[in-house]
Amino acid sequence: MQIDFHVHTSVHSACAIMEPEEVCQTALECRLSGVVFTEHHATWPREELNRLEEKYPGIRLYGGVEWSLAEGYDILAISKAPLPDLAPFSPLGEVIEHLTPIREQTVLIAAHPFRFTDFIDAGLDHVLRVCDAIESASGNIMRAGFIQSGNLFISTRGKLYAEASRLYDLTPLCNSDGHMTEALGTFANIYPDAPMGDQAWLVDLLRTVKPKPWQNPQRVRTYLQRKGYL
Ligand SMILES: [Zn+2]
Ligand SMILES: [Zn+2]
Repeated sequence: MQIDFHVHTSVHSACAIMEPEEVCQTALECRLSGVVFTEHHATWPREELNRLEEKYPGIRLYGGVEWSLAEGYDILAISKAPLPDLAPFSPLGEVIEHLTPIREQTVLIAAHPFRFTDFIDAGLDHVLRVCDAIESASGNIMRAGFIQSGNLFISTRGKLYAEASRLYDLTPLCNSDGHMTEALGTFANIYPDAPMGDQAWLVDLLRTVKPKPWQNPQRVRTYLQRKGYL
């Protein structure tokens, strides 16, 4: 089964041009089994995700959030518990303080940390130390540069991501960071086939299983062309 942990919709992310229905439809066409809505500083009420799931049997929807930090980096949070409301560009220390009561129930993912930099400064060191996983491939990551190896698209900073993953013991993840339908089904994570569960099941899966990276090179090519990166 394939899961994308980083998707935006036009409902809660002004930068996205994709309706939630388009996410579900495209995800089904791309054979994704699960999608996490990680809007910028906004979370989806579970009832609304349930309503969407009813309209699109075959795709499981989960809630998360993407927080932009004062340190200049972004993190994704996916939790079994309700997530706190945090102002954009809050310092990481403050974010961690808010998360303390639910930290054990929450997975933190460093989103595209080397998008704009190729070294680990003090701020990024702090981010990586508190995270559980690192997003190592996405359309957004490819914009820093990529090579084509066989028919696969590989970030020119791939080694940095691999090194950070090893140094900080972070699970590497591949996501679309989708803001438009062309981004969906580009990068995702493969897990051994199993019945899909609820939000708590997803958090436990993230915590315990290292997925295999997956990409659809044809869709990556189309996406990179659409964005003008290729
Ligand atoms: Zn955005
Ligand atoms: Zn994002």
